[in-house]
Amino acid sequence: MSISVLKNNLCAGCGLCESVFGKDKISVEYNKEGYLRPNFKKPLTEKEVKYFNELCPGINAKHDEIKNYDHLWGPTLAISSGYANNEETRYSGSSGGALTAISTYLLEEGKVECIVHMGASETHPYRNQYKVSQTKEDLIKHAGSRYAPSATLINIVEILKKYSSIAVVGKPCDIIGVRNYMKKDEVANTKIKHLLTFMCAGVPSQKGTKQLIEQFKIKEENVVSLRYRGEGWPGYFKVVDDKQKVHKITYNESWGTVLNRYLQFRCKVCADGTGEFADITCADAWESSENGYPSFEEKKGVSLIITRTENGKDLLSQVEKHGYLTMTGENFSSQDIGKMQPYQKQRKQNIIVRMLALKLVGRGVPKYNTSLLFKTSLRQSPFILVKNFLGMIKRL
Ligand SMILES: Cc1cc2nc3c(=O)[nH]c(=O)nc-3n(C[C@H](O)[C@H](O)[C@H](O)COP(=O)(O)OP(=O)(O)OC[C@H]3O[C@@H](n4cnc5c(N)ncnc54)[C@H](O)[C@@H]3O)c2cc1C
Repeated sequence: MSISVLKNNLCAGCGLCESVFGKDKISVEYNKEGYLRPNFKKPLTEKEVKYFNELCPGINAKHDEIKNYDHLWGPTLAISSGYANNEETRYSGSSGGALTAISTYLLEEGKVECIVHMGASETHPYRNQYKVSQTKEDLIKHAGSRYAPSATLINIVEILKKYSSIAVVGKPCDIIGVRNYMKKDEVANTKIKHLLTFMCAGVPSQKGTKQLIEQFKIKEENVVSLRYRGEGWPGYFKVVDDKQKVHKITYNESWGTVLNRYLQFRCKVCADGTGEFADITCADAWESSENGYPSFEEKKGVSLIITRTENGKDLLSQVEKHGYLTMTGENFSSQDIGKMQPYQKQRKQNIIVRMLALKLVGRGVPKYNTSLLFKTSLRQSPFILVKNFLGMIKRL
């Protein structure tokens, strides 16, 4: 039995395997392309490989149950928008600071002991490091999206030993990994109370961040702090160097001209850019510009909020009732979200033909609910489907 996730280049870099199998067997490290990947220090037994494949979100991304399923946006109970009432949270957040506001409610009302999420490394601020936050101040410090590899789950097993109730905020693939683990591990299933995520267009290599830093004519070792977003909406890619000089460029320049050229392969065949396995997904509630594409004009942030489970629905109503969030829009339709998130809509409609291309060249594909993806693709123009199929064949 082989580790198909590496052979087929399907790893998303969540870090779960290192935590579950132990660092003596698997160590998640940057590879030469600048992505986080498992390095197998000892071979796994056949039984371990089977377990690995069941847990790994790069391989296993299938829903057990299909309920309230929107063909584009996944399980959906309600779609609304809102922003954090705390001004600092809203300002620091990527969009409206909704994820940080919900996390703050969970901590301050004693619903969980800690939030596992992502922030800048203390020693290498241009890299990401998982965080275990227990105060509002810590949550605000780590608010904002980080467009680089992030092994959110790299220490989840140890964290579960230490705390009795936790919530996880992570990329959609991190959340699939947690769900897979919760199905297999009773401790995880009992202690993990809430799963929160954001829409994700893909994880750029660490090389994307390096290129942006070098455009400012500084070196990584001179970086004192680095933000990709936030401090406004969408906010700036901002680096402070060791001479306290601030370097910044717009979101459109950082994401649109550099970072999105470095996306890892797994993200191009991702059927879950919208966080279908979470209780709540937040995203940018972009307003359309005249050309029909989202406008990135700076303004006060608003998060799109998709409630997916009963657990998420109860949570959101409590967060609002306790004054952590103001809700601004309600009952958006599937089409409304398509206008705010055109990339997510296109990718979801095209996945099935990209998978077909992989299969044709003998490559392994992730486990998805294929019949749902097939139905989604029926809404796409045949011309675009053929273009996507040929594009994937060419890439392979
Ligand atoms: C790689 C990437 C791609 C994205 N693509 C899209 C997209 O296509 N469409 C869209 O609408 N939004 C996208 N976002 C998310 C978006 O930028 C906002 O995070 C989202 O709108 C929620 O904003 P917020 O203000 O509610 O979150 P905040 O209050 O700012 O909270 C963000 C939370 O996410 C955690 N976090 C940040 N970066 C990471 C990371 N790399 N890995 C794990 N956890 C992290 C933080 O620790 C924090 O807890 C992406 C984010 C990332 C990191």
